[in-house]
Amino acid sequence: MSDFRLPAELVQSALDALPTPIFFKDRAGRYQGCNRAFTELMGKRADELIGLSVYDLSPPDLARVYAEADEALMSSGGQQRYETEVQPPGGERRQVLFYKAAMLDESGQVCGLAGTILDITERKALEQRLSDLADQDALTGLMNRRAILAHLHALHADRRQARQPLCLLMCDVDHFKSINDRFGHAIGDEVLVKVGQALRGHLRDGDRVGRIGGEEFLVVLASTDLDDAHLVADRLRQVIGQIRCETLDGPQGVTVSIGLARSHDDEDWADLLGRADEGLYAAKRTGRDRVVVAQDFSRHLLHKDWRRA
Ligand code: GH3
Ligand code: MG
Ligand code: MG
Repeated sequence: MSDFRLPAELVQSALDALPTPIFFKDRAGRYQGCNRAFTELMGKRADELIGLSVYDLSPPDLARVYAEADEALMSSGGQQRYETEVQPPGGERRQVLFYKAAMLDESGQVCGLAGTILDITERKALEQRLSDLADQDALTGLMNRRAILAHLHALHADRRQARQPLCLLMCDVDHFKSINDRFGHAIGDEVLVKVGQALRGHLRDGDRVGRIGGEEFLVVLASTDLDDAHLVADRLRQVIGQIRCETLDGPQGVTVSIGLARSHDDEDWADLLGRADEGLYAAKRTGRDRVVVAQDFSRHLLHKDWRRA
């Protein structure tokens, strides 16, 4: 390594020119220096900041996060990168990415640390928005097929481990094709939106609903009790039966058929879905606008394979 050192004033003005907050702390975690962006973030002059600890500048919950991370870095040496929040005095919390590195003295001992703060609030909001969109059905705003199946997958695994059942409702709008054919696709879409609202609006905590196909909706009930799930299914069916859409032929109603299945221990999630589907088709066969509880064990070995669907 060369012995050349930049003059301290030049280093400070270079740091001040950078828009990213930068700070230095000693081995006890007290600020020893910073750049202008850091003073602006904290709303204090550099000479006021020197000697302060994170507890003097930040709310206790955040200060604890920084202090623990600082201590870990100073014990281990090397570098550190983590996401957290900062809250300037009197300001709003922002999401940030900290990059920190331990600083060594001539003998190679850790004597403090240097850190930078990148504001990632906008990026995080965009990430959240994209991830929400990736899980959302564009027409109804419900969970989309991927998201509701992922939820089912996870809940099913949890319940199986706890040896607790869960209940599924496979719901399909009756004669939906003729609604489209008679009144047009826009009215068909309106029906789907209203059915989605009715389903979402009448579920309880822990229940989830998603649109898994054109006019098919899957409700994953937290309920472990079949009678209770039957009551929920019947209430949903009745609420949907009250939906009206204005058409040239006057207000039009809509009905749904529902297949209900309760899981059992030795069944995987795809077979459970297959049984709910069988309940649905039985509801269709026997007149529609009804709830049919699926047989406990599938009689049809050739039902749709949800693992591949
Ligand atoms: P069943 O009572 O047996 O369920 O009969 P159905 O007419 O509801 O069932 P079918 O599967 O024959 O028709 C479903 C129709 O749903 C056909 C398709 O054009 C329509 N569809 C699928 N996705 C959408 C959508 O996003 N918007 C609208 N308007 N129609 C859709
Ligand atoms: Mg269908
Ligand atoms: Mg249908």
